[in-house]
Amino acid sequence: MLSNRTISQLSSRGIVKTAARSLSKSTPTPAKLDGKVAIVTASTEGIGFAIAKRLGQDGAKVVISSRKQKNVDKALDELKKENLTVCGTVCHVGKSDHRKALLEKAVAEYGGIDILVSNAAVNPFFGTLSATPEASFDKIMEINVKAAFMLVKETVPYMEERGQGSILFVSSIGGLIPFPMLGAYSISKTALLGMTKAFSVELAPSNIRVNCLAPGIIKTKFSGALWANEEQRQLAESTNPMNRLGEPDECAGSASFLSSDDASFITGETFVIAGGATSRL
Ligand code: NAP
Repeated sequence: MLSNRTISQLSSRGIVKTAARSLSKSTPTPAKLDGKVAIVTASTEGIGFAIAKRLGQDGAKVVISSRKQKNVDKALDELKKENLTVCGTVCHVGKSDHRKALLEKAVAEYGGIDILVSNAAVNPFFGTLSATPEASFDKIMEINVKAAFMLVKETVPYMEERGQGSILFVSSIGGLIPFPMLGAYSISKTALLGMTKAFSVELAPSNIRVNCLAPGIIKTKFSGALWANEEQRQLAESTNPMNRLGEPDECAGSASFLSSDDASFITGETFVIAGGATSRL
């Protein structure tokens, strides 16, 4: 601590003023995603929303999306209240014209695309794999696998224009070890682990990294059936070494890290976010 006398001596020699001037001129440390443009699908609630918010807080300009305009508007309101740079559009990931509009929105609003988080998934059937209706199987593969593939295929040219990019799939621990009664859904999530590896090798020469998140049970509407009542919640929690379910925000930091230059030598990897659940499976 400087004494008042020392400060007044330094001050009389102009040293304090010079130091203050250089401090006020020094630029703040840039946030880790400053200058990046991110697209997050299925991002009006749950894990996608938490990821979009975190990418925005870490400096990215973010384009959010989901199937319903009213959900997009509500999410945008919330994110704008936090002073984040965000815009949004309707995008049902299974519709090619919607995906095109999403990519074009990012380019029109923010000039390009650096980050893609492919987060959308459906699960229309609960039951054994053998009993899964063909229509349900097709729907799961169409949204969870084919739409993710198409989105990457369609986004890559924009990333190549920027000379770099980061793609993140959202799989599940069910992709590592199939969930009982969610066989088709689990298979779709296993496909994303393979897609991560295959794209990561193919896109590395273009300086595009491809990684994946595999969350355990996270408290969202999607997993609601697993914790809707007290008995189910306790059962779900008891299967986890941390004896609790995850929160959407707990997926967001890893997504931001993997999308950032801090992860510049990480590609083809899957990050498990499951409170240790896979250590016990
Ligand atoms: P969620 O809270 O129920 O949110 C789902 C979001 O997806 C909403 O914004 C919804 O908005 C949108 N959506 C649904 N179908 C869509 C489609 N076809 N195209 C575009 N957007 C669509 O779900 P979540 O739990 O966050 O799940 C997100 C991802 O995490 C999924 O890939 C899921 O498989 C994965 N995951 C979840 C858990 C978990 O326990 N929650 C665990 C592991 C993995 P609209 O209704 O407006 O479309």
